[in-house]
Amino acid sequence: MSANLIDGKKISESIREEILAEVQRLSEKGIRPGLVVILVGDDPASQVYVRNKAKTCEKLGYHSEVMRLPAETGEAELLTVIERYNADPAFHGILVQFPLPKHIREKAVIDAISVDKDVDGFHPVSVGNLVIGDDALLPCTPSGVIELLKRSGVSPAGKHAVVIGRSNLVGKPLAMLLLRENATVTVCHSRTANLPEMARQADILVAAVGVPNMVKRDWVKPGAVVIDVGINRLPDGKLCGDVDFGEAAPVAGAITPVPGGVGPMTITMLMANTLKACKLAHGLG
Ligand code: NDP
Repeated sequence: MSANLIDGKKISESIREEILAEVQRLSEKGIRPGLVVILVGDDPASQVYVRNKAKTCEKLGYHSEVMRLPAETGEAELLTVIERYNADPAFHGILVQFPLPKHIREKAVIDAISVDKDVDGFHPVSVGNLVIGDDALLPCTPSGVIELLKRSGVSPAGKHAVVIGRSNLVGKPLAMLLLRENATVTVCHSRTANLPEMARQADILVAAVGVPNMVKRDWVKPGAVVIDVGINRLPDGKLCGDVDFGEAAPVAGAITPVPGGVGPMTITMLMANTLKACKLAHGLG
């Protein structure tokens, strides 16, 4: 058996085409989605992420701004900047790039972003809406995984999904989304006993751990769909996932590569969220 490759780049491109068409329709009404990305300090990886986000905005015709603040910016000052964008109708999404300098509390920042503009989906109200099943701006990487599944013809309904990882960023919200899609969900973490055995029970196995090549051949049930959220940099500079692709691919029914799987979906879902926030702001939701 050889797994079907789930091509995140291709799926992401087709979603971007849909977004572009919608942006063009909105522009006829004089409406333009707007996203501001706030970057504090000069973390090199963050610089790359922020540049990519700005470039994607440009390609899709969004109004975008990158607000660069020095590393010494105080928490109160950052909150004042956020307040200003909360009140600015030209921006429908506000994203503060993490990690922040140590003297700024991430929670205070997340709480300060208006729920209507919370395109990262991290605000406690957004998380609550996700849990109770209300329509919400959903966190980008988990909703990207759901889109990958749906657009590859994989319905989570009735399947046993095993999510390895329980972070607030990926594992927990993804488990909730899979539950919403009527999967039976098991969440595993660093204290889970018999992890390989748990993983082997999955029809849909998601690894969101941050341990390179952790998921081996005997962790995968034959025919299972394997989604690798992990992005790890090896000492030789190459990227790899949490799944040992060479071992898992011959057993899996379908599998995402790293890079080119979940990765490209994250920015795309950020754009989708900004579009959604824009439409809601104009009563077009
Ligand atoms: P965190 O470090 O916040 O969480 C990791 C989770 O994995 C924790 O729940 C932890 O368990 C669990 N874990 C760690 N080691 C083990 C182990 N040996 N066995 C079982 N479980 C373990 O990471 P994130 O959720 O933020 O990210 C996970 C991965 O996804 C990373 O590689 C990250 O780079 C990648 N990522 C990719 C994105 C994308 O766009 N594709 C976006 C975001 C993240 P415990 O809770 O018990 O500590």
